[in-house]
Amino acid sequence: DSEIVFDGVGVAYPNGFHGLREVSLTIPAGQMVGVVGLSGAGKSTLVRTINGLVPATEGTLTVGGRNVTRANGRQLRAIRSDVGMVFQGFNLAGRTTVLNNVLMGRLYESPWWRTLLGAWRKDDVELAMEALERVEIVQKAYSRASELSGGQQQRVGIARALAQKPTIILADEPVASLDPPTSHVVMEHLRRINGDLGVTVITNLHFLDLARKYSDRLLGLRAGEVVFDGTGADADEAV
Ligand code: ADP
Ligand code: ADP
Repeated sequence: DSEIVFDGVGVAYPNGFHGLREVSLTIPAGQMVGVVGLSGAGKSTLVRTINGLVPATEGTLTVGGRNVTRANGRQLRAIRSDVGMVFQGFNLAGRTTVLNNVLMGRLYESPWWRTLLGAWRKDDVELAMEALERVEIVQKAYSRASELSGGQQQRVGIARALAQKPTIILADEPVASLDPPTSHVVMEHLRRINGDLGVTVITNLHFLDLARKYSDRLLGLRAGEVVFDGTGADADEAV
């Protein structure tokens, strides 16, 4: 089970600034959640607390019953192995192949020397190829990542997250560097992964229409507080 429970979660950054305040909510397994709000509202902060990338300084946050707030290094690694991450800037190694990039998603499950030697198991390669097929980019497996378009690179980013066999995918502004048609393609893939595989997908998005179209639930943030929690239809009424 991969239920996410925020209980009074706050984030005070080292400079004392509160990026998140008193967040209490539950995200059941398999939900597709869009996090919306103006720039600086705390969207990234909220998304990144879930895998401990940003430490919650107040309250308690659990993922699949495991306490992220009080996790030690080993426990955090175990949590992160279940949580795939997709980034705004794709974060691919441009000079190496698409396949090698996706294999990085196997890091958590594999001994460190495998990555150094490139001594991947057949299963790892199969998983990576399967992930590339799912996002319809397997024909580029042996291309250099930097040769791909932005939309293609983001699909590789999604494949890398998928290769982890995650129960949760966090997508931090996954389409902020893409044009509108490409944004829809990327969101369609995330939606399909959620629908077909039951993976919880939490996406932080600038555009409300995209969020509304591709989410079961919207979380609206303002100055670090959750000021809206409901469906797209609820959002229409609130506007
Ligand atoms: P959003 O994703 O909605 O644009 P963020 O979560 O990135 O917002 O940031 C929320 C607020 O926290 C912003 O005002 C931002 O400047 C601040 N912030 C983010 N990271 C840090 C940090 N490491 N130290 C101090 N303040 C930060
Ligand atoms: P991205 O849009 O790629 O997420 P950001 O501009 O939001 O990048 O932030 C980049 C990094 O700078 C993040 O690690 C974030 O926590 C940090 N950061 C953002 N705002 C502030 C701030 N006001 N003070 C210190 N660090 C910040």
